[in-house]
Amino acid sequence: MTRQHKTIKEKQYFSILQWLTEEGIVSEKGEPFDWRNRPFLLDILTDFHPLQVVMACAQVGKSVTFSLKTLFAVKHLRFNVIYTMPTDSDVNEFVASKFNKILQSNPSEFRGMATDNIDRKELNDRFVFFKGTVSATAPISTSADVLVHDEVSRSNQPAIEVYKSRTKASPYKGRWLFSNPGPERDELDLAWQKSDQRLWTITCEHCKAEQDLVWPDSVNIEGKFYKCRTCEGKLSDDTRRRGVYQAQNPGSRIHGYRISHLMCPDIAIEEIIEDSEGDPGYFNNFVLGMPYTPGDLQITKAALLDIWTPRFSDVDQGPRFLGVDVGNIKHYVVRTHGGIIKIGRFTKWEELDNIIRTWKPQAGVIDAMPDNTAAKHYVDTYPFMEMSFFKENADNPQTIIWRGEGDRDGIVYSHRDRAIDRMLTDMLEAKWLIAAPADKNFGDYIKHFETLRREKVTNNKGIERYIWASTTGVDHYVFASLYADIAMTGGGDGMFFGTGGGGEPTHAIDADNVYDPSELFRSSNSEGYSDGRYGG
Ligand SMILES: [Zn+2]
Repeated sequence: MTRQHKTIKEKQYFSILQWLTEEGIVSEKGEPFDWRNRPFLLDILTDFHPLQVVMACAQVGKSVTFSLKTLFAVKHLRFNVIYTMPTDSDVNEFVASKFNKILQSNPSEFRGMATDNIDRKELNDRFVFFKGTVSATAPISTSADVLVHDEVSRSNQPAIEVYKSRTKASPYKGRWLFSNPGPERDELDLAWQKSDQRLWTITCEHCKAEQDLVWPDSVNIEGKFYKCRTCEGKLSDDTRRRGVYQAQNPGSRIHGYRISHLMCPDIAIEEIIEDSEGDPGYFNNFVLGMPYTPGDLQITKAALLDIWTPRFSDVDQGPRFLGVDVGNIKHYVVRTHGGIIKIGRFTKWEELDNIIRTWKPQAGVIDAMPDNTAAKHYVDTYPFMEMSFFKENADNPQTIIWRGEGDRDGIVYSHRDRAIDRMLTDMLEAKWLIAAPADKNFGDYIKHFETLRREKVTNNKGIERYIWASTTGVDHYVFASLYADIAMTGGGDGMFFGTGGGGEPTHAIDADNVYDPSELFRSSNSEGYSDGRYGG
């Protein structure tokens, strides 16, 4: 497209706020921008320092903020921009649902910037290239004035590194990083550590003490309100709105900002307190905007002996749950809400029917790997049985365990490592006991848990994560325990043993034309679980 015959001289702005106001730029929803509940975004919006990093919780508007900065930079600063996201499909979704919508909502300001081309936007001979860091095609090779790296912590770290060379020819040499954090010491965290580390600092309306908002010191958990860290007085929403950024590491050449849900007056404190009780990785990364590396959680023999009890009948109360780990030798665990009452192993499948007859579990979970024929058989035969797949819930990273629906009824999905974290934490906190006999099986049980180690791995998208691995690969009781634990999370929909009949759910998974388990296996592989030694 050519702009050479342009006759109307467009106004050149030097201030993004003046531009937004005078041109009446509206959001992707066609609404004026409102920073009343996001006042901390204004400093970030108006910061055009070349090196900046924003470490932020989820859902606070950082992508839209950086979209506006990008558009302003292209149009009024006449920058060329490379904008990356973790994957090409992230790019497709973001450009279609956010970036293009902003263009379409402001047609006169962005006329000439076509929305049909996802990867490349051009305006007055300046461009924005969008690109996934995990991509079938090579990184953008052209040079740019600014690199915008969205969701850095979920991006391929080596690819982010490659882009550094692309700004060599530019006098500006911009690098804007922003993301929900991931583990400590990734690209985002390192940039934050080197930055001037600006924290949103508020002034207590009672004692005038200046402070940033931190979990849990700034929260009165019982009273469910924000409190001053000095005088413990209740802080109003307006006090939290009237913050200013203060650098903790002044003088750095990188501008760093941190955003947490504690800074958002429209997020209910009850919600934050509830999130704090869930998965610590989620709470730190997505609520507090903090990196999180799981600690050296490990289950020792001593820890298991601590929760062992000879008082079987105290633990064998209420409904029972069964977990079955599948291999040449199968391992099973029977438990109640109070803890484990039976552990054992078997080789022939008929023995599992005996175990079910003996223990009458309310619910049971069986490993769908490595061969799901047997698992499928048990799910079809016993309406209270489910088969387990490990997977990540991309739509809702907070969810650790969830159930398949429709033709995937009878399947329970779980986030493998977070589910293990949760179980081990419960064991270390003695939330349940082990009342199984102290026999050779229990000796094996201890050995299997002792082989567990946290390991940092890089999956095939180049993204780092922590997983639980066994030093020997012999961890069957760990997974049998995990499946029994997962079985307890079922909906309590009254599918007790022996009540099968009219109300039984139909399991369409045996209709091989509608369900291909290998597809699921592939999708869990793609999330980094391909190596057999990480399996159950
Ligand atoms: Zn105070």
